Amino acid sequence: MKILKQLALITLLAIGASAQPRNVDALIDSNLHSLLATYKQLHAAPELSHYEEKTAAFLAGQLRLLGFTVTERVGKYENPEWTSYGVVAIMKNGAGPTVLIRTELDALPVEENTGLPYASKVRTKNEAGQEVGVMHACGHDIHVTSMIGTARVLTELKDQWQGTLMIIGQPAEEVIHGARSMLRDGLYEKFPRPDFAIALHDNAEIEAGKVGLTPGYALASSTSVDVQIRGLGGHGARPETTKDPIVIAAQVVLALQTLVSRENSPLDPAVITVGSIHGGSKHNIIPDEVNMQLTVRAYKEEVRKRIRASIERIAKGTAAAAGVPENLAPVVKISDSQVTAATYNSPELVERLAGVFAKTLGADNVLQVPPAMVSEDFGYFSLEQKIPSAMFWLGAVDPAKMKTGERLPSLHSPLFAPAPEPTIRTGIRAMTAAVLDLMKK
Ligand SMILES: [Zn+2]
Ligand SMILES: [Zn+2]
Repeated sequence: MKILKQLALITLLAIGASAQPRNVDALIDSNLHSLLATYKQLHAAPELSHYEEKTAAFLAGQLRLLGFTVTERVGKYENPEWTSYGVVAIMKNGAGPTVLIRTELDALPVEENTGLPYASKVRTKNEAGQEVGVMHACGHDIHVTSMIGTARVLTELKDQWQGTLMIIGQPAEEVIHGARSMLRDGLYEKFPRPDFAIALHDNAEIEAGKVGLTPGYALASSTSVDVQIRGLGGHGARPETTKDPIVIAAQVVLALQTLVSRENSPLDPAVITVGSIHGGSKHNIIPDEVNMQLTVRAYKEEVRKRIRASIERIAKGTAAAAGVPENLAPVVKISDSQVTAATYNSPELVERLAGVFAKTLGADNVLQVPPAMVSEDFGYFSLEQKIPSAMFWLGAVDPAKMKTGERLPSLHSPLFAPAPEPTIRTGIRAMTAAVLDLMKK
C-alpha cells in the first residue's frame, strides 16, 4: 500500500510538472514514464478475483486525482461473503452522450515464470484453501494502466469532448461474474446508463502497435455444466450385478460430441469439452458414480439452450439404455455463477472505430480478427445488445519477437510477457481516439 501511495505522489508531481502539451501523443509521452512505473507496480502486486481491494483503491485514487467523481465497492455477488471491488468514475463535461469504458482489475492463480525483474512473487490461498501463485497473466494490469493514461489524456483535452465519461474498474472478470455483480447492484440506476460501451483486451498474437476488431459475435458464451452419472456399484469381477457408471460415462462423453457434429448447423459454431471426469477408487471396484465437468461454448443463445437440453437428454437416455433405474437417473446441473453471455460487437460501432483507429494508428495497424470461442463478461454491459458496445484487441507482442517466429506464450500462460511500452501507448491512443470521436464537440 505504501508503494501505491508513493506512486500517487509521483503522479501528482508528473501532472503538476507537465508543460501542458496539447496533443494526444505529446500527452502520452509526458505521462509514459510514470505509467510504466505504475504498470510494473501493478504487475508485481496482482490480486485474485474477489480480492482486488488494493488494485481497485489505486485506480480509484488515480481517477479522483484527475477530478472524477469516484464510487468504490460497486457490485453485489450472489455469495454475500464476497466483497465486490467495482469502481465507477464519472466525469461530466456538458451535454452529450454517456460513454462507458471498462478495465478489469483481477489476476489469475498462475505462478509467474517470465523471469522479468518486475515479475510477481505473490503467493496466496485460493478459495479452496490451496496455496497458489498469482500473476497478471491476462494483462489486466496493461488495461488498468492504459485506462489511467486514457483518463489523464482526456482530462487534459476536456475542451475537445462533451458528455459524460464513465470509467468502470470491473472485478472478477476471470470468474465471469464481476460485470453482473455491478449491474445487479444497480449500475445503470445509480449511475447514468451509457449510450456506448467500449473495452480493450490485450492480445498475445498481435504485434504491439496494432489493434484488431471483430464485427458481430466476437467471443462465445460460456456455460459450465456438471454431470453426475449414477450407477450401482459392486465387485469389479461381478459386472452382471452392477450398473457400471464408468462405462455409461464413457458412452456419454462420446455421444456428447455428436451434439455439435450431428445436431447443430455447421454454420453455428459450438464447442462441448469434458474438462474433468472422476470416478472410482480402485482397480477392482465398480463405483456408484462418476462426476464430469463440462464447458459449452456458443454464440447464439438458442444454440446454447439447445445444447444444454441435449446434454441432459443424452445423459439420461444413455443411462436408461444401460438399465439404470429412473430414481438413479443422471443429475445435470448448470452453474449459476460460472456462465457468461456471448460478446457481441455492434457492427456499426466497429465500423466507426475501424475508421477512427485507421486515422490514428494508420490503416496497416488495424486488423480484422476472426471471432474466438473464448469468453468474457463485458457483453453484460450492453444489456443484451441494447447498448452499442465493442471490445477491441490490443496487440501486445514485442515486434522483434514476432519476426523471429518463436512460439508466443498465450494469455493465461506463466510466460505471458507483453511489451509494456508500445502496448500501453497504443492502448491509450486507440481508446482516447474512440472516446474523442464518440463524444466530439
Ligand atoms: Zn482478460
Ligand atoms: Zn483472462
